[in-house]
Amino acid sequence: MHAEILAIGTELTTGAKLDTNSQWLSIELAAVGIPVLLHTTVADDMPVMLETLRAAVRRSDIVLISGGLGPTLDDLTRQALADLAGVELVLHEPSLQHVRDIFSKRKRIMPERNVIQAMFPAGSEPIANPHGTAPGVWMELPRPNGARCLIATMPGVPSEMKPMFRDSVLPRLPHSHKIIRRARVNCYGVGESACEELLGDVTARGRDPEVGITVHEGTITLRIEAHGATESECDTKIAATKRLIHARLGELVFGEEDEQLEDVVVRELNRRSQTVAVADEVTGGVLSLWLTAASDSERCFLGGVIGSAVGHVFNVPESNEHVENVLHEHASHLAQQTRLRFGSDFALAIAGSLNTEGIPQLSLALADAHGVEVQEHIPVADVSFARNRAAKSALDLLRLKLSQM
Ligand code: ATP
Ligand code: MG
Repeated sequence: MHAEILAIGTELTTGAKLDTNSQWLSIELAAVGIPVLLHTTVADDMPVMLETLRAAVRRSDIVLISGGLGPTLDDLTRQALADLAGVELVLHEPSLQHVRDIFSKRKRIMPERNVIQAMFPAGSEPIANPHGTAPGVWMELPRPNGARCLIATMPGVPSEMKPMFRDSVLPRLPHSHKIIRRARVNCYGVGESACEELLGDVTARGRDPEVGITVHEGTITLRIEAHGATESECDTKIAATKRLIHARLGELVFGEEDEQLEDVVVRELNRRSQTVAVADEVTGGVLSLWLTAASDSERCFLGGVIGSAVGHVFNVPESNEHVENVLHEHASHLAQQTRLRFGSDFALAIAGSLNTEGIPQLSLALADAHGVEVQEHIPVADVSFARNRAAKSALDLLRLKLSQM
């Protein structure tokens, strides 16, 4: 059994509005074990809507639709449903009364056009909408394979759609006996395809649990999805897969779920009662911002110097040298000076300059009581991505250092 979701509205296909309804509905369905195989977004266009609806009924056991139930001429969903079923729209008196009541409560006269909101494809059922005028539409249609397709159509407005789904649609859906549980493992320091290669058969399609890879600004997220009869069955399978991931990726794994590099760094520093300070010529404060935002960071993050102030504060000329090892030296010097000035256990430096071709060169340095470690960092072309990547790579230097101590 599987479901698919249709979002209807020209606002969505033009890009004026983002379809968040389908995302929300997918999460709700996953929670009751119903997999969603397809999201489709369709303009307010009758032929395309009809074609999409036909295909949906043929493909899926459950079709959830949002949008286009309003009273205006561009709201075509109920007519499309009637055409799909090959029936007429008929008036449903109690729904008309509901629409009239809403208008009289708001002390407004109901425009004649709103009668359409009380019209339903013959054989369908209205779904109550306590939060707005347009009731939803419940329909069951035969599929070519002899089974039935359950179709629930809800208003596009999220504050009406959500309660309607939870109160009136969800209870009517067949509940799967399977449970779906998900977990995320976060990695840094390797490319997406190299990560996949290291993982080998762990990411094979059809594996149970399935493991998918996504990457965001250098952080790789492994998404584990387990299916099972009980939560504990899923959890056992997820734990085994996590152990396999750790065995194959080792130090590349830094955290789970929403955990970011700075969260791990701050936690580890606090655990040891150690501190860090930063000198950052490159990210405009991204590194400090992230450290500040991590919970309990006031215990371990002593502060930093940002931008061109770095050179003045530490009395070093801004590095305009084009030679790599000069930049390395500069970064190393900054990290050591920062550590001394702040009296911290560790100091991170991100130093940058342009080379002769005008391409930015970055050097990262980590100083501690035993010395300083320097790393070249190759920036990417997109500036904001490059800042974030540099900040992450600096954090990762410290994370790895802490994990080896
Ligand atoms: P109405 O009676 O308000 O016209 P409707 O069922 O016709 O309701 P739409 O006209 O399709 O719904 O959408 C109304 C508003 O709801 C849109 O302007 C948009 O802000 C929001 N909306 C519609 N569809 C979605 C969606 N898929 N995701 C998020 N918001 C949506
Ligand atoms: Mg509308």
